[in-house]
Amino acid sequence: MSSAKGSWNYEVKNNMASVTGRIEERIRCEEQRRGWPRREVEPTPDPSEGGERSSRDRATSERTRTSSPPGRGPGWVQHDAVKSNDPSSTPSEQTNAINCCDVLIIGGGPAGSAAATVLAGHGHKVLLLEREKFPRYHIGESLLPFTFQPLQRLGLIEKMRKSAFIKKYSVQFVSPSGKASQPFYFFTRYDRDTVAQTWQVLRSEFDVMLLDNAREKGASVKEETTVKELMKEGGRVVGVRAQDKGGKITEYRAPITLDCSGREAFSAVRHNWRVGDPELHKVAVWTYYKGAKRDEGIDAGTTTVAFVPEKGWFWYIPLHDDIVSVGVVAEGKYLTRDGVKEPEQIFKREIEQNLWIKEYVSCGTQFGPFYITGEFSFHSRYCGVEGLLLVGDAYCFLDPVFSSGVMLALKSGAMAGDAVHEALLARDFSPERFADYATKLREGIENMRKLVYAFYNPNFSFRELTDKHPDLAGDVTDCLSGDVNKDFSRLWTAIEEFADVPKPLPYGQPLANAKAQMQPAQVPLNR
Ligand SMILES: Cc1cc2nc3c(=O)[nH]c(=O)nc-3n(C[C@H](O)[C@H](O)[C@H](O)COP(=O)(O)OP(=O)(O)OC[C@H]3O[C@@H](n4cnc5c(N)ncnc54)[C@H](O)[C@@H]3O)c2cc1C
Repeated sequence: MSSAKGSWNYEVKNNMASVTGRIEERIRCEEQRRGWPRREVEPTPDPSEGGERSSRDRATSERTRTSSPPGRGPGWVQHDAVKSNDPSSTPSEQTNAINCCDVLIIGGGPAGSAAATVLAGHGHKVLLLEREKFPRYHIGESLLPFTFQPLQRLGLIEKMRKSAFIKKYSVQFVSPSGKASQPFYFFTRYDRDTVAQTWQVLRSEFDVMLLDNAREKGASVKEETTVKELMKEGGRVVGVRAQDKGGKITEYRAPITLDCSGREAFSAVRHNWRVGDPELHKVAVWTYYKGAKRDEGIDAGTTTVAFVPEKGWFWYIPLHDDIVSVGVVAEGKYLTRDGVKEPEQIFKREIEQNLWIKEYVSCGTQFGPFYITGEFSFHSRYCGVEGLLLVGDAYCFLDPVFSSGVMLALKSGAMAGDAVHEALLARDFSPERFADYATKLREGIENMRKLVYAFYNPNFSFRELTDKHPDLAGDVTDCLSGDVNKDFSRLWTAIEEFADVPKPLPYGQPLANAKAQMQPAQVPLNR
């Protein structure tokens, strides 16, 4: 059993990293304002630049690199001729810029790896910078059926089939008294051999598979390299400053940077674009068990959502190596009632609130830390500016109740890869080029968000909805399976008989577009 102190480490580390980033940024601005010299370590050209890339065809990227940009494009900076006019970019006489690639990617989670794979597949020179050394721990283990298409696009279905990951065919819901619903099998709606079977993954292993795949397709990856700052010239992003584990700072330049930094939302935080969801302010506490009970046959990999009072819920996700991931999500006020603050105590008290969870974990042994995180649903006001595009959680993160995060990260990574490929061919990185990307992504997020709101509404239940409107059961399954870019208007009209359906938020468009579209009255308060 771990100590409660250790349990905070992961999230605290992440929060501290983001706080430290903001402090560093403020110091930098202050130094600039006062005309103080830069304190950065002088970087040297990186010997591995381009070295990790396989010997695939580089025709497109070579052409891009040696050409001048057309009129309104972002400009492709010349080697060793980098000077900024933008005071916020603070270029230094001491620093040598590296024109490293066609596309820079911040973060090697599912979004970053998917984008890197797609772009490298298109023949572009991609450099992905990842802060951690993989394998690294990450939450987000239950996949949705509609991760199938992006995984297929990345060429990973066979690897997934051969992997140790547990096959997932269904999801079931359990009342606080311990009564389980029939599992909702995905094969009642989708092809049993493809979409209808998905996986429960240990993210440390899954993310390595994705990142290795990006490398195999030709992307260069630098682990243990932390992006510290976006570099800007004339308002557009022209690259990043990053620090390796030895402390060396290097400037990497590219015509476009993809921010795939996850919930830390590197760019959204620095631009003050991060907006909390108006209603979804939950807290999650979770840990792992060995030897806990699991069902048999095709139910062995079922995700269980088990309710606790006040619309709180447990996830119970069976993983391989006899591990089960168990977490509870609810309002912070409920979880910390009577002054209970320690994650371990919160978790153990909630186990008593659901008889099914209590029984299933009773034969297992808890191991490792108790993790906690809060305020996890947020949106970015914009999807980017010239030279910058936000992808995956860095763009938006929704409450995890329907396990949509990895699906949206992989899907947005692939979509961003295609959109950026077109931009590279056209040598045009103006923000409005990414309006379709943003519109499609927001449509999927808003559909999922409506269902999440319904789930948390005390007047709503899926059973009552489908009893009254049996013809809409298919729509519910589609949305819950991740088939989110569809017209669900009939479903929303039916849900409105039980619960309020939230209006779409006016967020996520490229900065130029969004300015024209947004009415101040439509914008919910920033939390
Ligand atoms: C409690 C909880 C439960 C969840 N459960 C599920 C679930 O069951 N199923 C599901 O699909 N999703 C789930 N999710 C969501 C899922 O974790 C995310 O949606 C998913 O990981 C997003 O992928 P990503 O690539 O956008 O970001 P991430 O996976 O977070 O990857 C971002 C990467 O960027 C790196 N990085 C960050 N900052 C920098 C920097 N400055 N420089 C360099 N690298 C950087 C990080 O080290 C990280 O590797 C859950 C989330 C939470 C909070």
